[in-house]
Amino acid sequence: MQFTEQFDVVVVGAGHAGCEAAMAAARLGLKTALFTLNVDLIAQMSCNPAIGGIAKGHLVREVDALGGIMGEVTDAVGIQFRLLNTSRGPAVWSPRAQCDKQAYRLKMREVLESQANLKIKQAEVQSLVTGRQSLAKDSDPGWFANDQRRTTNDILPNQQSPRDEVVGIKLRDGRTVGAQAVIITTGTFLNGLIHCGEQQYPAGRSGEPNAVLLGENLKALGLRGCRLKTGTPPRLDGRTIDWSRFQEQPGDTDPTPFSFRTKQVAHHDRQVPCYIAWTTPEAQRIIRENVHRSPMYSGQIQSIGPRYCPSIEDKIVKFPDKTTHQLFLEPEGLSTHEIYVNGMSTSLPVEVQSQILKSIPGLETADMLRPGYAIEYDSIDPTELERTLETKKIGGLFLAGQINGTSGYEEAACQGLMAGINAALKVKGEAPLILDRTEAYTAILIDDLISKGTNEPYRMFTSRAEFRLHLRIDNADRRLTPHGRRIGLINDAAWTDFQAKRARLDAMNMLLATTKLNAEMLQSIQHSAVSMSSDHQVEESGNEEPAVLNDQGPMSKDWTPGQTLAQLLKRPEVGIELLAPILQSLLPEFFEIQTIREHSRVSAARSSSAVRNELKSVETEIKYAGYLQQQQKAIDRLKKSEQRHIPEWFDYRSVSGLSREMQEKLTKIRPRTVGQASRIPGVTPAAVSLVNVYIEIQGKRRVQATAL
Ligand SMILES: Cc1cc2nc3c(=O)[nH]c(=O)nc-3n(C[C@H](O)[C@H](O)[C@H](O)COP(=O)(O)OP(=O)(O)OC[C@H]3O[C@@H](n4cnc5c(N)ncnc54)[C@H](O)[C@@H]3O)c2cc1C
Repeated sequence: MQFTEQFDVVVVGAGHAGCEAAMAAARLGLKTALFTLNVDLIAQMSCNPAIGGIAKGHLVREVDALGGIMGEVTDAVGIQFRLLNTSRGPAVWSPRAQCDKQAYRLKMREVLESQANLKIKQAEVQSLVTGRQSLAKDSDPGWFANDQRRTTNDILPNQQSPRDEVVGIKLRDGRTVGAQAVIITTGTFLNGLIHCGEQQYPAGRSGEPNAVLLGENLKALGLRGCRLKTGTPPRLDGRTIDWSRFQEQPGDTDPTPFSFRTKQVAHHDRQVPCYIAWTTPEAQRIIRENVHRSPMYSGQIQSIGPRYCPSIEDKIVKFPDKTTHQLFLEPEGLSTHEIYVNGMSTSLPVEVQSQILKSIPGLETADMLRPGYAIEYDSIDPTELERTLETKKIGGLFLAGQINGTSGYEEAACQGLMAGINAALKVKGEAPLILDRTEAYTAILIDDLISKGTNEPYRMFTSRAEFRLHLRIDNADRRLTPHGRRIGLINDAAWTDFQAKRARLDAMNMLLATTKLNAEMLQSIQHSAVSMSSDHQVEESGNEEPAVLNDQGPMSKDWTPGQTLAQLLKRPEVGIELLAPILQSLLPEFFEIQTIREHSRVSAARSSSAVRNELKSVETEIKYAGYLQQQQKAIDRLKKSEQRHIPEWFDYRSVSGLSREMQEKLTKIRPRTVGQASRIPGVTPAAVSLVNVYIEIQGKRRVQATAL
């Protein structure tokens, strides 16, 4: 077939998954094209103007640690930064940023357009072009040096059943584009259908056409589809809101960046507040009286929505005793008055949405700039995918993002990055990058999707991780940056910084483990304890004059000289902030980016976020060392089960003792490892151990059969 153009990798859809996929493939040296319906809407944030949040922030950190771009773009355009959950354990600390939506799009496009090997194209992709590639055991892994691939009639005699290979795409305008790998990241666009009250109309999202042809083509190629739904709230004109009626929610005074490569976020000194609002009993009444007009409750929408992003009508129906529900009024950007009403996702009729808003004090005269709506869309059953996000049925075809049944920019971005990396590695004939559940939330997301599938939009939670204390935001770089460096996504400057950070942490750990407490140090710690508690009183009381310091602050009888600083730090009442002045005198280079105020004794709490976060990382590893070691045994067991591969030829139907139900479940999903098999819902441990035993038995039978 003669193509109009030829690329190594083609990405379909410049959303949050597509941008990461395209950047990864191009950065790995592959000739890459990114096709999208409207280049002015690259990386459009279809819903809330925020990146990160609980568990989602972990995903952004992992994307960054591997060499992705969402973190750096967010740091460049974020207009409010908060580190969430700092009152709880470090496993659940999570960065979140409000973004300037327009700036996010422009920055992402700027990053993409400055990337070598990457072309951006505006066009609708209507179908895939596939060839046939033999599955013969001795056949080339699928790519020929001169790119002359076998076509349908090239099947050799000793072939297993041939598998389709993607060889390109067809555009709606008639052009055809050749590619060795195609990554589809079409979000909510496949057969998208918007619902607003009784009104419904085809769209990919508000104001944009849906993609019907490609959706139908994927089904025609035999990929199992699902039908999902998500929703979004109305947006308001901020000039028509009475802001005095709402509680202000500011950003952190010293914002924590998302990216390990960001020294300071762009808007660190001009963050904007969000505002907290509440629904009223009147609003509840209006919703109750009209819930039958919501498509979810009128039966107009059959598909399942995101359980964890419920619409306001869902909240009223499911929690009838709750008299008020919290809302957040979030600015959509610095150059617009548009306000996003977080917490009020709805598909109620527009006039009902207006009534609800007007029943909220402060919003009586609020002008609705955009109504909320729900959208139904096609996704592909993610059990069709390998751990690389390549489809099992069509070689070279990768899927990433909401098309795989997830919801969220961050969930999409991490998939896009992994798909981009693995598509590039496949084209280069290199081994894929497969992470396991002990290394990354990204791996947990992919493993959950391909092993369990999903019948509702999947979003990440820290509770989905068995080893969340190992998967913290502060150690994502130590977990993943070596992977990113090995495959070529981490440049020399970033690698040098990473190694310097690792050396700093090692030096700090050594200092804590070998320095013994003496009387002078104890006095310093005592003074820090007093000054911190007086700072706390000032913050609490708002009185600018710190309380008079006296050295009669908290002093435990167990703070005895002779023990190491690390032993002292294990004590629950001792935070590393108390040791900061001592540590700074013993290891000044660790604090080199310290912004010391005139205060003679600096505490970590007054350190820059970079220093503070690195100190907290050291503290976490020391305080939780016992628990981390205890988890290590479980981690080793999981890794062992992940190394136990189930060959592609394994035949579940010939495992005697395996029930038909187990045979069907395992044949449908075809897990690649014993570990993955054990996580398929309904697959019993007995079934898994049978499979484990039969891997050898069937392997021996195959050897004997070929020897005859
Ligand atoms: C109404 C709505 C509400 C949402 N609510 C939430 C929420 O509450 N919480 C949350 O976390 N997430 C929510 N999301 C989801 C969030 O926007 C997505 O998870 C995220 O954008 C998915 O990223 P993606 O890259 O998979 O797809 P998208 O960001 O949707 O990007 C898809 C891209 O593919 C392009 N495209 C599609 N078809 C074709 C084609 N045939 N040819 C060429 N280009 C094509 C489109 O132009 C678009 O650029 C919502 C989305 C919508 C639309």
